[in-house]
Amino acid sequence: MKITQVESFKQSVTLRHPFKISFATIYELQTIIVKVTTDTGVVGFGEASPFEPVTGESIATELVALDALGAALVGVDPRALERVHNVMDATMLGHTAAKAGIDIACYDILGKDSGLPLYQLLGGDSNQVVSDYTLGIDTPEAMASAAQEQVAAGFTVLKVKVGDDDQQDIAAIRAIRAAVGPDVELRIDANQAWTPKQAKRVMRAMGDDVAAVEQPLPASQTQDLPLVRALVDQPVMVDESVHSATDAFKVLAAGGADIVNIKLQKAGGLWGATQINAVAAAAGIPVMLGCMVETKVGIAAAVHFVAAHQNARYADLDAFLDFASPSWLHGGFTHVGGIYTLSDAPGLGIECDL
Ligand SMILES: [Mg+2]
Repeated sequence: MKITQVESFKQSVTLRHPFKISFATIYELQTIIVKVTTDTGVVGFGEASPFEPVTGESIATELVALDALGAALVGVDPRALERVHNVMDATMLGHTAAKAGIDIACYDILGKDSGLPLYQLLGGDSNQVVSDYTLGIDTPEAMASAAQEQVAAGFTVLKVKVGDDDQQDIAAIRAIRAAVGPDVELRIDANQAWTPKQAKRVMRAMGDDVAAVEQPLPASQTQDLPLVRALVDQPVMVDESVHSATDAFKVLAAGGADIVNIKLQKAGGLWGATQINAVAAAAGIPVMLGCMVETKVGIAAAVHFVAAHQNARYADLDAFLDFASPSWLHGGFTHVGGIYTLSDAPGLGIECDL
């Protein structure tokens, strides 16, 4: 089997509500759906969803990258994932979103060619995953009411964005806890907003109400992560600080994290995610699969990954819930609240009219 064509489709997706995190507010966005065609007629779909503040990649840069990567891959067997990545990495450094788009499409082809859903192909035996739901920064009252709404919809774990204002953040966690009761797990994501001392103050004020803190420090300030782990009682998760297996090795060897948030768009796809997960597992550290602002195409790949790996203990795969459903996208997985059930169709189980 050989790749004959790699096509990129820029698609617009509308958010149901504006989404605010510590350094940006997002209203509408675009994503790239990648279609890989082969000489046997098998076609795979993937998604490249760059987020400039985290990887420096945009829709414009990734469309250019996809053209160059696609041209380099014509004639390569899409099932030979290591070869696919070697060719991509030899063509250009970085551009992990473009590489993720192609990688996901190649895994889709591998699944379709072998007749197996991706989670089985990757070694999993369950098609169910539990995801959290993420609340953007708003007033404590609005956040508490949004939290109540999602718990009523069936989510048992909420991730809360913080980092704009310490007192507001502490008030928001108190309001959310009062609104949802004691049994809902709350994790917070500071998206690089804090200093170590600030992390200590805020996390002590929040106390047992929160189960973990994600990315307290700026991405490059990994040398202070062990200090933060010593200062706060809750587990510390890294996201923006870890893009690759090498990053994970450095942070975990230094004792810098309790959980690693893997995103396919940072890792260059499922191949990179597999390597990061192996490093984390070797260090005795569980991982979470997170997402950028992706449709069900990219999200389905991450859901399959979580279903296939016991060390992938957490899922933060909710972005698609905030979009009006795209008319060109079908299948994948169903969900009741935070419980996602994957389709047993081969590959991602997704079809795109593109
Ligand atoms: Mg994060």
